[in-house]
Amino acid sequence: TTDIQAVLIEKDWAKSVLPVRSPHANKGSFGRVMIVAGSDRYIGAAILAGSAAMRVGAGLVTLALPKSLTGAVASRIPEATYLPLPEVSSGTADNSAARLVLSELGKYDVLLIGPGLGQTGYSARLVTEVLSNLPVGLKVIIDADALNILSAIPDWWLEYKFDAVLTPHLGEMARLAKATTEAVQSDRFGLCQKFACKWGKTLILKGAGTIVTSPQGETLCNPAANPVLASAGTGDVLAGIIGGLLGQGVSLFEAAGLGVYLHSLAAEALRSEIGDAGVLASDLLLKLPVVIKGLK
Ligand code: AMP
Ligand code: MG
Repeated sequence: TTDIQAVLIEKDWAKSVLPVRSPHANKGSFGRVMIVAGSDRYIGAAILAGSAAMRVGAGLVTLALPKSLTGAVASRIPEATYLPLPEVSSGTADNSAARLVLSELGKYDVLLIGPGLGQTGYSARLVTEVLSNLPVGLKVIIDADALNILSAIPDWWLEYKFDAVLTPHLGEMARLAKATTEAVQSDRFGLCQKFACKWGKTLILKGAGTIVTSPQGETLCNPAANPVLASAGTGDVLAGIIGGLLGQGVSLFEAAGLGVYLHSLAAEALRSEIGDAGVLASDLLLKLPVVIKGLK
């Protein structure tokens, strides 16, 4: 293991990077966030990510998801807007969904892509087409299945050279780095730093003791370990939080660190109030405004 300088994420730092909200703001002041998420087996991922972005203060969230799912999701998040995508069962030949997303993206500040997308030919085509044609200046978070889709492309980081926040859990990190989960777990700091620099990305290596590294190797650590977060859907909430923060003008690295911290504070509050078992990922959502208030 190399000698790594990591800074613990603390309250004063979080306060200093928290976005300021002017009383004279309008919804345009707090960012437009496009979320490409969800598929027929993972409908909830879009709900969790979209709600989380709104619960940290995003101005406008648009959910791009397969047409057949839009009604169900919209009934859960009336505040979002929707981009119903054409569904192509035959897989890779058709890029109409990607073209529709790209035709709208110029109006957005942030793209979150990946939660619950699945790893079909259709989703692989959607992810690669969109990432290959991004408008300049867009802030991007790549999560979940979009990471798995990148893992299948040799030297994907040479193809997608823009900085972005990547949010792998241990298994996703192992696939991206072509390493075993044991190897990643035994040198979390070293590998997070090595690959953030190699890939030119802001990298969050999730799990108990989450690490955040910038492409320059600047490293933050959130030492919290909390079984409340070891349940389905919590990663979708984290990705949505970061999207919401980016929309409010926070930089990639600071949004990554602040997002990890707010997510962890919300989980800590739920552990004290409810206990360490049976808390749902969606329970984190209403805690987010409360933990943000606690920082002010
Ligand atoms: P995912 O696996 O993508 O759903 O993401 C899970 C989220 O929960 C990530 O933000 C992890 O860092 C967090 N998480 C999972 N297990 C723990 C744990 N034992 N302690 C702290 N955070 C955790
Ligand atoms: Mg995940």
